[in-house]
Amino acid sequence: MSEVIAGSVLVVNAGSSSLKYQVLDPKTEEVIADGLAERIGEQAASIKHWYRGTEVRRELPLPDHEAAIALVVDLFAEEGVDIAESGLAAVGHRVVHGGRSFFEPTLITERVHSEIVRISSLAPLHNPANLTGIDAVTALLPDVPAVAVFDTAFFSRLPDESAHYALDAEVAAKYAIRRYGFHGTSHQYVSQSAAEFLGRKASDVNQIVLHLGNGASASAIRGGVPVDTTMGMTPLEGLVMGTRTGDIDAGIVFHLARVADMSIEDIDVLFNKKSGLKGLCGENDFRAILERVDAGDDEAAKAYLVYLHRLRRYIGAYMIQLGRVDTIVFTAGVGENAAPVRADSLAGLERYGVIIDPERNAVRSDEPRLISTDDSEVAVLVVPTNEELAIARAAVAVTN
Ligand code: AMP
Repeated sequence: MSEVIAGSVLVVNAGSSSLKYQVLDPKTEEVIADGLAERIGEQAASIKHWYRGTEVRRELPLPDHEAAIALVVDLFAEEGVDIAESGLAAVGHRVVHGGRSFFEPTLITERVHSEIVRISSLAPLHNPANLTGIDAVTALLPDVPAVAVFDTAFFSRLPDESAHYALDAEVAAKYAIRRYGFHGTSHQYVSQSAAEFLGRKASDVNQIVLHLGNGASASAIRGGVPVDTTMGMTPLEGLVMGTRTGDIDAGIVFHLARVADMSIEDIDVLFNKKSGLKGLCGENDFRAILERVDAGDDEAAKAYLVYLHRLRRYIGAYMIQLGRVDTIVFTAGVGENAAPVRADSLAGLERYGVIIDPERNAVRSDEPRLISTDDSEVAVLVVPTNEELAIARAAVAVTN
């Protein structure tokens, strides 16, 4: 039974209290196993584990990530698969922040591990969680090569004018403050897939990629190289997101500290967890928001308009940055599924060569597709993202 996993990759995305994983074959793209452990470290943790068509759900205490990984190993064993001996080619770990140290997927050696620890101050909510995942898997699968795939890597070549804040240069240099960009694995995967769909080389295509999920970011990519992106030093900057503010006047931080007597921790939680769509209308599930908009709910309508306004601002900015735009690409949960968001964000841009075809836009599919008219100068596409596949491919490329 074990040989069915041989050559595939275990992809791990460890959050502070969650562990998402997939086993997939990077060549055939077949997903062999898929799972999510949640509320790790709390009393009532749970796991959902899917293996070749069979789903198992358990509720049980999972004190830490190592316990979660040990449970995953046990669940495989229950299916007759000894994961340690199954011939996994690699483990690919999503690591959020690569700082100025990592520009590409990297085999995790002791030195690399120490460097990820060292730069954790840049992403205190994310990198330590990613490291617990790395440590837990390494303890149980010490012989399988582990590769870190960084969310910032694709944007490490952002040009200086996009990467720098207009901040005191000494302070910026001393504290490594610059725009790093995130969701890079998705932007890279989707932009390559978009070029393939158009039958062109990525190096010939100028594109705007709109990754609209619970987290959201846009990028402007010229000939395969990113020239701008909306997320910055942290994933807080840019578009309105499910629970994050996106762009906000930094003066509001001073104001809340002085007038509302809020601590930095309070403001961090407010901006990252209680704002965005949730802050505006109490909801961050876009399906529910669209239903409320249709039902005439004013709060939801306001949230939707604020979301769209910010998105259109960046689409316009990136058209100017790129000069010539060949394609605008929608991806992630909202981008792939919410036809009204696609139509409304590009409405009225006919004179800029962007014409959505309503019938094409209404089609639901898991495949890359064109949603603009045949005479639209700019090809508007929906391209499903697949970060797990991108991480698996990257991990295998590093270990070969
Ligand atoms: P992601 O972070 O990429 O998983 O995206 C999650 C977001 O996609 C949530 O806000 C979901 O409500 C939204 N989403 C998923 N399916 C749909 C849909 N059919 N229509 C509108 N939004 C959707």
